[in-house]
Amino acid sequence: MHTAQLVINIDNEAISCAACQWRCVFRLNDTGRCLMRVRNAEGIELLNYGLISAAAVGPIEGYRLWHFFPDSKVLAIGSWGYAFPADHQRSPYARLPPNDRNRRYLDAERAANFALEKLCRGVVWAFGEPAVSYEYVLDLLRLSRAASRYTALVTNAYLTPEALDGLGPYLDGICLDLRGFSDASYSRLGGVPEWRGILDVAVRARQHWHCHVEVLTRLHHDVNDDIEELRALVGWIRDGLGVQTPWHILPGDAGAKTAASVARARRIAHESGLHFIYGPEVNQPTRCPFCQYTLITRENGVARIVGISSNTCEKCMQEIYLRTSLFKPR
Ligand code: SF4
Repeated sequence: MHTAQLVINIDNEAISCAACQWRCVFRLNDTGRCLMRVRNAEGIELLNYGLISAAAVGPIEGYRLWHFFPDSKVLAIGSWGYAFPADHQRSPYARLPPNDRNRRYLDAERAANFALEKLCRGVVWAFGEPAVSYEYVLDLLRLSRAASRYTALVTNAYLTPEALDGLGPYLDGICLDLRGFSDASYSRLGGVPEWRGILDVAVRARQHWHCHVEVLTRLHHDVNDDIEELRALVGWIRDGLGVQTPWHILPGDAGAKTAASVARARRIAHESGLHFIYGPEVNQPTRCPFCQYTLITRENGVARIVGISSNTCEKCMQEIYLRTSLFKPR
């Protein structure tokens, strides 16, 4: 049995879990909001530890990390469980399969070795929220880093600062799933009343742990596409994470109005000074924001660095931030 590591004693009977920002309080036999943690006599039992919901080998670009080890092969892996109530309603991976035969266990060391065997340059936690699998993710990142693999998370950043600080020494990159920039957006698309802690975690990952961060936002018409909200969101990316932080904007649903929202968001991001803005089109190249020289091409799922040397545009010699080394930039 695996038990939670980030636990705070409250009194003789109650303890709280500090893996995600819900900070659930448990008494005996209580279940956490994520449905993956249960209090027993020994602590908080992890129901999903090592149970793998999906695993795939493919290009890192598939996880919206486009300035991060371009064109490298990555092992993408994940488990069951989400922290956001909205994800519980939309995803079949919010609950463990009821039948034991459908539960696949993969030891963290075996997963790290699998990445090596498949000649993957890195490992990305891409399915399910990493906060609710914190202990396994920590084991996996530590072992993968020891094997000189890069590590990354696709996350809504609902981790606590303590959880981030546990993962930080072994973490290279984050794709931040940012649902909007208002109480209303997070209430509707996340189901959480308080969301600004997400911003603090992302900024700490970038500034303290020197992680590469890219931001992904799925726009929904009349939900999270208000002009002032988008301006505030873009301003936070620019000021909190840096102008070279890529922002990926995707339509959250079909329809001409959402497509127009994506176009408007791109315009706002350009006006606000973000250097790298990507939409839903296939084969989008990366161009130098200073001279428009092509830096990275992307065709049929294959990315090629064609115009950058030593993190500098080969034409205008301006500095371009691209993460291609296991050594973290300071
Ligand atoms: S991971 Fe989050 S939702 Fe799950 S028990 Fe811990 S604090 Fe609660």
